Amino acid sequence: MWIDSHAHLFDYSHEELVQIINEASERSVSIIVSTATSVITATDVICHCDKFDSVWGAGGISPFDVLTQPDSWQQKLRKLLNHPKMIAVGEIGIDNTNPTYPVLDKQLPFYESQLEMAAELNLPAVIHSRGIEKTAIEICKTTGLTKAVFHCFTGDIDSLRKLLDYDYYVSFSGIITFKNALIRDLVSFVPFDRILIETDTPYLAPEPFRGKKNKPTWVSLVGEEVAKLKKIDQNELQRCIENNFRSLFKI
Ligand SMILES: [Zn+2]
Repeated sequence: MWIDSHAHLFDYSHEELVQIINEASERSVSIIVSTATSVITATDVICHCDKFDSVWGAGGISPFDVLTQPDSWQQKLRKLLNHPKMIAVGEIGIDNTNPTYPVLDKQLPFYESQLEMAAELNLPAVIHSRGIEKTAIEICKTTGLTKAVFHCFTGDIDSLRKLLDYDYYVSFSGIITFKNALIRDLVSFVPFDRILIETDTPYLAPEPFRGKKNKPTWVSLVGEEVAKLKKIDQNELQRCIENNFRSLFKI
């Protein structure tokens, strides 16, 4: 079986969701983590968890959504994370790659307080970090959080080494299937017990669907590419990913 450890299902209507989740199950995608980016989408995630057996949830405020949250976001998020199928705090993080994103000074307090919330609730964190990976990793470590995955990782070898030193996990997305993606060269450095895969639906559809609206079914294309790069049988990679997923998210 394949596991899509990061998908923004809230981007689909309920009718579309029934269809894409059924299709995913038929194609051996047995677990999907519906991932929130705000208080409102975390509420959607709870609905997905309740409606679909194969769906689990992550709730958090992403660095792109920090300017639009209600004052009581922490209280609201904490309550939503109480749901038995909520398995992580995320996606949270920091990103300095685009001047149109909220400035780092606004992103950082959300990142830090949600890492603390994760540690307190004994949940792993799902971390988005681009352009500032080393700082994101150091802050995570400083908070004392021992379980985290750096999703859709595209950092350099130094930041990869650092997060592996701290025993964090790495999740690869459809970017791994893009011909000139630098991350393809780093896959060989990631031990089998640290790898997860994801679609980041609706973004980053893998080849040959690049540019289309992504869906969990296509996580198999990410897995096939990782298996090829790691020179390992697909079934064996599936077993590694399932073990990693279960030990990180405790399900
Ligand atoms: Zn995402």
